[in-house]
Amino acid sequence: MELVEIKEGKSRFLVPAQDENLNFPPGSAPVFFNKRMEINRDLTILLLKCLDAENYLDAMGASGSRGIRVSKECNIHAIINDKSAEAISLIEYNRETYAPEAEVTQCDANVIMSERRFDVVDIDPFGTPAPFIDAAAGCAKKYLFITATDTAPLCGAHLKAGMRRYFARPLNNEYHSETGLRILLGFAVREIVKYDRGVEPLFCFAKEHFVRLHLKLTYGAGRADKAMENIGYIHQCPKCPYRTEQKGLLPKTLYCEECGAPLTAVGPLWTGPVSRTDIIEQMQEMLPDSELGTQNKIEKLLATCKDELETSSFYDYHVLSRHWKVSPVAIETVIERLKEKGFRASRVHYAGTGIKTDAPLSEIRESLS
Ligand code: SAM
Repeated sequence: MELVEIKEGKSRFLVPAQDENLNFPPGSAPVFFNKRMEINRDLTILLLKCLDAENYLDAMGASGSRGIRVSKECNIHAIINDKSAEAISLIEYNRETYAPEAEVTQCDANVIMSERRFDVVDIDPFGTPAPFIDAAAGCAKKYLFITATDTAPLCGAHLKAGMRRYFARPLNNEYHSETGLRILLGFAVREIVKYDRGVEPLFCFAKEHFVRLHLKLTYGAGRADKAMENIGYIHQCPKCPYRTEQKGLLPKTLYCEECGAPLTAVGPLWTGPVSRTDIIEQMQEMLPDSELGTQNKIEKLLATCKDELETSSFYDYHVLSRHWKVSPVAIETVIERLKEKGFRASRVHYAGTGIKTDAPLSEIRESLS
């Protein structure tokens, strides 16, 4: 395996060589590394600087990139694990050379997560994290970070796989990226509350081909019940843009208030906030001094996430224009017009053409052209 040294943030480590354009897929090397996930790793570093943690389990280390960075850049004791012998050789080299304070273990993630406990647990598999969340729920003392790259099942493009993995019904429409995030979050909450633990999303986002959750875990049946109150459904009209939300484990039978059609229930999923404003503000404060390679992208992402309304779905401005056969004004103008009328409205981090608002469809339609 040909290796190259790369620099991310304030850290250096070796990874399998890839060409400049990342032309051969990251999973094809004997040890996994995806340069496009730098923003995901940068955000882990930035968030950890705002949290109170003494140790961190990188349960699926691959090259060890995350754990090495956490050790060097956050000064948190990192335990880097992987089940693959080839990955462990590379992680060992990287540890010895770049982060001697870190610890390396080789075992199945579910085994280490069942035997030891850590302040922060990070699960970053290739594909679905579903088989690991149960063990992680007991292993994480304070925080649980989860990456999912199986966006097709989560977003409804592979409907049956999504239902098998997450026990929820997705919907492959214009806001599927948000539904995917909320289905994963809803699934994680259901896996965690069975141990009488509460869950609070600190900063969750969806980008390109992945979803990333950063969760705070608490203790007590009361807190678990409180988290459960946010499990619910989106009900989407199959004929028009109308949708509504409901909290509660059982889906209600609802009808479209615009055209009378029976609504399609999407979920169960998380219907509460996906991020905490105070955490985003702390991350914004920390950002300028953190020397992160994706600083500009992070700046934009954090600003959009901070302003994003708490509704569980968004409207796509192009889809609405096509539906009503109108030629739309600029998206910023639509948002300004809605705000002038006294409604709340924002852009969304999920899509450049997304709008969140509490305005009814008639008002959105008036503001669109
Ligand atoms: N976190 C890494 C990064 O940011 O570069 C990428 C991790 S890669 C997507 C997934 C890794 O998980 C692979 O190295 C694979 O060997 C490891 N893995 C898969 N299943 C595992 C399991 N059950 N236990 C431990 N490691 C596992």
